[in-house]
Amino acid sequence: MKKVVFFFVFFLFLSPCFGKEIDINKKVIALTFDDGPSKYTKDIREVLNTYKINATFFLVGNKVNQYQEILKKLKQDGNCFGNHTYSHKWLSKEKKQTIKKEIENTNQVIEDTLNYKVRYFRPAYGAINKTVRKLTDLDIIFWNIDSQDWKVKNSKQIAYNIINHAKDEGIILMHDMYSRSVNALKIFIPYLQTKGYQFVTIEELEEIKKMRKKINSYESK
Ligand code: ZN
Repeated sequence: MKKVVFFFVFFLFLSPCFGKEIDINKKVIALTFDDGPSKYTKDIREVLNTYKINATFFLVGNKVNQYQEILKKLKQDGNCFGNHTYSHKWLSKEKKQTIKKEIENTNQVIEDTLNYKVRYFRPAYGAINKTVRKLTDLDIIFWNIDSQDWKVKNSKQIAYNIINHAKDEGIILMHDMYSRSVNALKIFIPYLQTKGYQFVTIEELEEIKKMRKKINSYESK
């Protein structure tokens, strides 16, 4: 019989968005926001703090300067940041030089503003090809739960889209652009918490996946 391993993990001081106690035997789900920062970022922060959770924000580089203060607060709260290009360009249609600039300038502005080293990249429109992959060392992160908040106008429907597809190790795609998305958060976050989900950042999720793999490989020996 397989030995059951109960594993409690403390993530401490390893990185700014990596500081909570997480039980890796319980379900985890990562909330991600594309296209921000925006005038809604502060409302998102308020909801995240109400439910004591963190998220990952894939930032558009050219918006960072205008929203420095709220981004600094998000960082202090333990949220994670990723790169979503500098001007939301469809990178797979661009020349090498533009691709490089779009990615590097975004890393730079996030590093300069937040003193934060970016590790993750989500291409705008999910548009990626071999050239783009070759031009960056960042880990590319997509999603597997689409809230469809860019086209669905109703907060309840956005929340249902997430609840209906929620799963362990899920990555939820939302946008930091609409008040309806902020309202949807207030519906699905508490609901999923009652169903035993722990909200984690992408950085935490990647680490949890690695640990689970290791444990599985020990158990199957
Ligand atoms: Zn986008």
